[in-house]
Amino acid sequence: MMNRVLFRGASVWDGSGAPAFLADVLVEGSRIKTIARAPDRLATEGATVIEARGRTLMPGLVEGHAHISFGGAVNDSDLGNIPPEEHMLLTVRNAKTLLDHGFTSAYSAATSKLRLDVVIRNAVNAGEFPGPRIRAGSPEITVTGGLGDERKAHMYYESFGMIADGVEEIKKVVRLCCREGVDNIKVNISGDDLSPAAHGGLTVMREDEIQMAVSVARDFNKKVNCHARSAESVKRAVRCGVDVIYHCESADEEAIDMLESAKDRIFVGPAIGIIYSTLYEGEKFGFYRDSEVGRQMQRVIDTTAEVYTELRKRGVRILIGGDYGFAQSPQGDNARDLKHFVDLLGFSPNEALQCGTRIGGQVMGLGKELGEVKEGYIADLLLLDGDPLKDIDLVVHTKNLHVIMKEGELYKDVSATATLEHTVVG
Ligand SMILES: [Zn+2]
Repeated sequence: MMNRVLFRGASVWDGSGAPAFLADVLVEGSRIKTIARAPDRLATEGATVIEARGRTLMPGLVEGHAHISFGGAVNDSDLGNIPPEEHMLLTVRNAKTLLDHGFTSAYSAATSKLRLDVVIRNAVNAGEFPGPRIRAGSPEITVTGGLGDERKAHMYYESFGMIADGVEEIKKVVRLCCREGVDNIKVNISGDDLSPAAHGGLTVMREDEIQMAVSVARDFNKKVNCHARSAESVKRAVRCGVDVIYHCESADEEAIDMLESAKDRIFVGPAIGIIYSTLYEGEKFGFYRDSEVGRQMQRVIDTTAEVYTELRKRGVRILIGGDYGFAQSPQGDNARDLKHFVDLLGFSPNEALQCGTRIGGQVMGLGKELGEVKEGYIADLLLLDGDPLKDIDLVVHTKNLHVIMKEGELYKDVSATATLEHTVVG
């Protein structure tokens, strides 16, 4: 007999963008079996019944720019300084933290050692540790002097990136990542404002290098994501067929047109969380608003708002995920990106939530079965106290997540004992 769970009387926000509706939702095994809109009801026989009492039933969240192995770093170089044993334990804890906060899936933007994402993905899949469904990332593949090259000329010093110069080295390093089992290859095409040799306006990975990375990834049926802040890096990414293009805040008119023309095959993600936290909450870590870094962060927020308003209007698929895992933007705060999308980038709560659910399901490669509350879809579900369309901030706080279900299994269920603080429906 398959495991059956019935959510009775839920306000269903299904991820499609349509308004919420009252319904009973039956989960059987790992899938959503039946959705009965009120006044229709479903029989409760043989099912574990969860009385929703009007609480919101919505798809589990998808972190679209996950760094599951990042934690507590102030500087990029800190990421490379953690010994592998401690690093694996940190990654295990972070995976649980993500699931505890309602993230049932995570698309990795990069790992900080070659096998960390791969190992945690496999361990979660085997049921050994709690965590989201994971698409494992490669380390940041970067050129000498690019973001992720923290080495020093005068002494041996490791980096958290994998440094490769020229098509032959790129070919070899991408093949190595594929051999070790990653799902997504990461290439750093532009520099970064917090990177010493190459700031975010510079485009340091050459087109033939990117082409080779994509071509080898295709041979192994992997996706490719990239770090691209400068306009030229965005253009190179589109021309070379990169699947997920992060940042893009300096995209000019031509770059925006190119992103629009490729909108059926690409995703973009602003990764705004780290920028916000560095600007407004970074002081105790040495990031001051009244400094060059502060002014840079303000510029990035302003240009991101302009570019992403345009991309949203043109229907480009946008992912949440704000580089959580640094000291000023800890793992677990990931859903704050939804609120940033609303407050900083001009999204409606409904639009922001679609980025964190339905669009996320698509980037996971499960577009027809993940990220929506629909019959036949994978039962990744949250029962939330309150209406996130009225107050997006509700999703951020775990106390409002009364049920977290992943693939039909109740990971958390306090629905019977939790006090209803926000719900108005009887
Ligand atoms: Zn990142």
